[in-house]
Amino acid sequence: MKYISTRDNYKKVSASEAIRLGMVPEGGLFVPEAIPELSLAEINNFSNKSYQEIAKKILQLFLTDYSEQEIETAVNAAYNQENFSETEIVPLKKLNEQEYILELWQGPTAAFKDMALQIMPHLLSQAIDKVDLEEDVVILVATSGDTGKAALEGFKDVPGIEIIIFYPDEGVSEIQKRQMVTTSGDNTHVVAVEGNFDDCQNSVKDIFGDKEFKEKIKESGYVFSSANSINWGRLLPQIIYYFAAYANLVREGEIEAGAEINISVPTGNFGNIFAAYYAYRMGLPVDKFICASNENNVLSDFLTTGIYDINRDFKKTVSPSMDILISSNLERFLFEITGHDGEQIKEWYADLKEKNHFEIDTQNKIAIDEIFVGEYATEEETLAVIKEVFKDYDYLIDTHTAVGLKGYRKFVANEGNEKETIIDSTANPYKFADAVLEAIDGVVESEDEFEILELLKEKTGVEIHRAVKGLNQIEARHDRVCNTEEIRVEIKDILKVK
Ligand SMILES: *Cc1c(COP(=O)(O)O)cnc(C)c1O
Repeated sequence: MKYISTRDNYKKVSASEAIRLGMVPEGGLFVPEAIPELSLAEINNFSNKSYQEIAKKILQLFLTDYSEQEIETAVNAAYNQENFSETEIVPLKKLNEQEYILELWQGPTAAFKDMALQIMPHLLSQAIDKVDLEEDVVILVATSGDTGKAALEGFKDVPGIEIIIFYPDEGVSEIQKRQMVTTSGDNTHVVAVEGNFDDCQNSVKDIFGDKEFKEKIKESGYVFSSANSINWGRLLPQIIYYFAAYANLVREGEIEAGAEINISVPTGNFGNIFAAYYAYRMGLPVDKFICASNENNVLSDFLTTGIYDINRDFKKTVSPSMDILISSNLERFLFEITGHDGEQIKEWYADLKEKNHFEIDTQNKIAIDEIFVGEYATEEETLAVIKEVFKDYDYLIDTHTAVGLKGYRKFVANEGNEKETIIDSTANPYKFADAVLEAIDGVVESEDEFEILELLKEKTGVEIHRAVKGLNQIEARHDRVCNTEEIRVEIKDILKVK
């Protein structure tokens, strides 16, 4: 299978080249030229299979230039009991007859980013071997908090790779920051950027398009790649858990084999929900996708009006990993919806760049409406639903999961839908303990995030996730800070390039 650009501006490449490059050098994102399909019998048959077996099957369909052995090695290295605390890898918690919470945070850093970033370094290393690359690869990552740590853990001490994380100085929680700056490994680098996540992401994307700078870096023996969800190697592994969750529902007798379900995803960069959409295109029976935003509700507005408009204030919310206005993977989705119309995508994204908005036509809007609905949760609604779920089910969810659940509940209130629904739980509640404690207990007196962990545990009896326990006792190893103009200087300094 070959991969093509969403902007019709690059040659077809193999999977390993797409993963190695991260994004299309001329701008645009790689997508598979055709989406492989599974029969309903194959999908239902997954209910007799392990997560690892489902993973192998899905990956093989897309990574046709990888050998079976390579895929098996990567899957086993990623999805094992050392990295994920539960044998099923992604447990599904039933709240009631409709609501099923998919716990995607059992991995080493307590956020769903681990689902992809535990396997992606293996896929990238294999890709580097395949394309006979002479240079070392430098992974540049812009993070709204969770990708950073997950990428650091996945890539640390991988030979031939340096990894540099850029995070918004004021845009991540204390716990997220501690997680990143305490990371060990000789190839890990962490930089705080003065600005918000969009500033970070735009600056990093600019570098991927900066020929002169890339030339300079190459002379010193380095090429760039990405571990953000602009990289196909990040999206692909996320398709797996939608099939695994469906298989779980069938196995447990919660749904008839072949029945349609809904999927609700708390959304930022549109990566996770786009992976779900791919699963659907491959044959997964889905009625509706609920794309749930926080108060940075650019996406829910877009899905309602057909207008994508970033002319608005950027808000800092209690679900900071979704504080994003420019959702990278929407581009891939629009490319699919328009039947691979790269010229149209170019036009819309030129509008976005020049006028800060674009509007899609009625025909494409109708196609989207058939399966997608956009909802958003205010800050108050987010906290209220955490409290409600804890009271009703003695189950603790984080702020992002709360946005996904509230979005789903609003959808049901508006449209009345009774189908079983998977709600993605994208982070463990302890990762955002202060907001979760506030939701459960009202005002939080303490300002010390580590004391808050203990308070939340006292209050709820829920175990603290291993990823955040004892973080305050580990010494910080990274203290770089820069502004968006200095990112190139910082990279050169890290790589010791003149
Ligand atoms: C990254 C992240 C999201 C948003 O996921 P996208 O794939 O960017 O839409 C939601 N919740 C948490 C906890 C995250 O870390």
